[in-house]
Amino acid sequence: MPETVAMKFGGTSVAGPEDIKRAARRIVAAREAGNRVVAVLSARGKTTDDLVRQAHEVSERPLAREMDMLLSTGERISCALCAMAISDMGHEAISLTGSQAGIVTDSSHTKARILDVRADRIREALGQEKIVLVAGFQGVSGESRDVTTLGRGGSDTTAVALAAALDASVCEIYTDVAGVFSADPRIVPDARKLSVVSFEEMLEMASSGAKVLQLRSVEYARNHAVRIHCRSSFEDGAGTLVLGEEETMERPLVTAVTHSTEEARVTLVGVRDEPGVAGQIFGSLAAASVNVDMIIQNEPISTGRRADMSFTVGSGDLQTAVEVIEGIGVSESVSTDERIGKVSIVGAGMRSHPGVAAKVFQTLGERQINIEMISTSPIKISCVIGSDYVADAVRALHRAFDLGADAIQREEPTGAAHRPRVGI
Ligand code: ADP
Ligand code: ASP
Ligand code: MG
Repeated sequence: MPETVAMKFGGTSVAGPEDIKRAARRIVAAREAGNRVVAVLSARGKTTDDLVRQAHEVSERPLAREMDMLLSTGERISCALCAMAISDMGHEAISLTGSQAGIVTDSSHTKARILDVRADRIREALGQEKIVLVAGFQGVSGESRDVTTLGRGGSDTTAVALAAALDASVCEIYTDVAGVFSADPRIVPDARKLSVVSFEEMLEMASSGAKVLQLRSVEYARNHAVRIHCRSSFEDGAGTLVLGEEETMERPLVTAVTHSTEEARVTLVGVRDEPGVAGQIFGSLAAASVNVDMIIQNEPISTGRRADMSFTVGSGDLQTAVEVIEGIGVSESVSTDERIGKVSIVGAGMRSHPGVAAKVFQTLGERQINIEMISTSPIKISCVIGSDYVADAVRALHRAFDLGADAIQREEPTGAAHRPRVGI
């Protein structure tokens, strides 16, 4: 029985006609190597952004169901075009929508979760020696039968879900950078490509802004033991493998610096200080599908006083979050701040090393960057700062923890990747 390979090509990788043909050649090469091939494609270039803009041109608050109908078209175009290119290369390919491919989701439009993959039609086509192209980032609600989309970056999750359902040997994520780096290479030119990264670290990286892999795709891969191989679609190179921690060997203190400027802060002043209020606030936000990231609340210093609370949400959810909070009326006032950014450092080695947080705060302090909120996990430290300072903060932290490709080479020319790099 031949191996099944799942491949995914991101927006830049299918932007122009030459890009589609390049992706088609990679897909055909995998087929000619004797594999069964399922390829997931994203919308071309900035198509999804453009469709979102078009929606806002005709409506102040586009209906979520119609938004999904609209956004799902982008990836369908890519698949149909790629099928044509593959056909010209002498192979048979069939393009499928998410729904045709059997991606069944819940009904939460624009951020649906995959509930089931009924891949019979794909298996049938693979059995007929066809290459299968699946439109990424979309599915169909099992309940309403409407088209759904999986949230920005969701084609990664489509690919991983198909890899799991088809028992693929690997899920190759082809993108516009050579793999997962120690920081966004667009901000830190000497960022180092990681040859392997653990699921745990990748989850923290994705959740704190490293959009090279969508967070849910990493969760899905970990839960279903899918091997992700993230690599460039423009050049051949080793890329990055995302593996279980036991397989990675490497335990650097700090693996990567990540950032995000796509969050906003909501501050509630004068919150009633009584049991159940926080449950009411965050229960209502969850019911409205608003994902909350950091939360800060201080206990009022004297009895009878009211508390203040801040939390961060994705910028796209800000309007809904404010409406929800105003609707339940638990605070005297609600204010928002969209000019925030977040920088984080991630590293499995942090678990057992004191002093890492101090070094982060000192580094930001030396750059005169004010820290507005802090949150930690055993392998991540995140700071909310003004959005204008994010790029500077990322570079300073990357340097402070000696993560750069140059720094590593200077320290030890060979084998440096497999030992802790920083001792504090
Ligand atoms: P695609 O369209 O292929 O899905 P994305 O734009 O979603 O690509 O993700 C790739 C981008 O992620 C890169 O161009 C890079 O700027 C950004 N990125 C952010 N953090 C990282 C990181 N740590 N390593 C690699 N890329 C990163
Ligand atoms: N086209 C969608 C987006 O731009 C999904 C994806 O590319 O993964 O977010
Ligand atoms: Mg992406």
